[in-house]
Amino acid sequence: MSTVLIIGTGGVGRVVAHKCNQVRQVFSKIVLANRTLSKAEEVKKSIGNPDIETVQLDANETKNVITVIRKYQPNIVIHTALPYQDLSIMEACLQTGVDYLDTANYESPDKQDFNYNLQWKYHERFKEKGIMALLGSGFDPGVTNVFIAHAKKNHFDKIVYVDIMDCNGGDHGQPFATNFNPEINIREITQKGKYYEDGEWKFTPPLSVHRPFDFPGVGAREMYLMYHEEEESLVKNFPEIKRIRFWMTFSENYLNHLRVLQNVGMTSIEPVDYRGLKIIPLRFLKAVLPDPGSLGPLTKGKTCIGCLIQGYKNEEPRKYYIYNICDHEACYREVGAQAISYTTGVPAMIGAKLMLQNTWREKGVFNLEQLDPQPFLEDLNAYGLPWEEKFTDQFTMGEID
Ligand code: NDP
Repeated sequence: MSTVLIIGTGGVGRVVAHKCNQVRQVFSKIVLANRTLSKAEEVKKSIGNPDIETVQLDANETKNVITVIRKYQPNIVIHTALPYQDLSIMEACLQTGVDYLDTANYESPDKQDFNYNLQWKYHERFKEKGIMALLGSGFDPGVTNVFIAHAKKNHFDKIVYVDIMDCNGGDHGQPFATNFNPEINIREITQKGKYYEDGEWKFTPPLSVHRPFDFPGVGAREMYLMYHEEEESLVKNFPEIKRIRFWMTFSENYLNHLRVLQNVGMTSIEPVDYRGLKIIPLRFLKAVLPDPGSLGPLTKGKTCIGCLIQGYKNEEPRKYYIYNICDHEACYREVGAQAISYTTGVPAMIGAKLMLQNTWREKGVFNLEQLDPQPFLEDLNAYGLPWEEKFTDQFTMGEID
């Protein structure tokens, strides 16, 4: 019997809340906290469980989070607000002795800088306190890390090349919209491309490297090389990896809108002066773009996210692809959210479930690839994200298709 405190009830938090409510034998009490209380109340209403509690919380301040933790005494905090709050919430968990889980690494609101170091620094203190933090338990990062741990455990003696490929083949019919928080999404996409090869990080101009790939369940799409945070933990935890890259698909229409917005300065995070008011253009842009939550009923099509892995087993070269296909409309029917929120929220629930069941039980700060992949993979099949795997015999080592 456990209490879960879910902080942030936007697109992802909504799915986590619905999914936790489906597993009441583990999450016997659910508390929803959000900066705007009405959003938490709306999620509670959509679930229809009168026992769920809601509370207003600005999680930017550690003291506010501590107050809410002391009031509701949760066994775990699932943080699905924004990456800006990772450290304030981790600090509150540390001070109150409660387990922590998130889906995205810390970002400073003022700098385009994404890395795990500030969160990994909590390892010794979480360990001393006897509590656990699980970082990045969404799909990518999250499931992709587990896919690679599974490949290493069961199919490879040595992993050489990894390509993580994220395809959203959905169509929401809007001229331009992002499928998760617009501010976080655009910050991520407009940074330089970055990948790891031969022991060092290599940089490319934003979205300049691309190629087509034929995604199962979706079809051929153009995918673009980007930096993504799981690359950082994976090269640390699997130092044998020679090269790791992350690719995401975008339509030509999406990229054209993004280019125009960039060219006119609307994606900048530097404040500008407007009639005496300091305005951050990207924040203003977020305010005028569609709320990703509103895309749920509009989006049709599928996502396909997976990992293409090349390496050796018994000294024989081997190429292996593991992926999930998820249908936007099926997600909306189940939990009232589109597949991007669903593919993030389900793994967050699963990570928390395994921690509460002591199946994943460690002291300190962990990324998912450091834990046994088997129970997580079983739960993906059980809770709505079935995965598939296949091997290819004929290939040129290092090539994608
Ligand atoms: P949304 O913008 O839909 O939701 C964010 C929610 O957090 C909103 O309800 C917002 O409330 C709330 N919030 C923001 N600031 C605070 C605060 N200071 N205190 C309390 N609540 C706050 O975002 P998403 O649901 O799309 O994304 C949530 C997280 O999931 C992000 O960190 C994102 O990076 C991550 N993500 C991870 C993925 C993965 O695969 N690992 C994929 C997609 C997303 P309000 O409106 O009141 O501000």
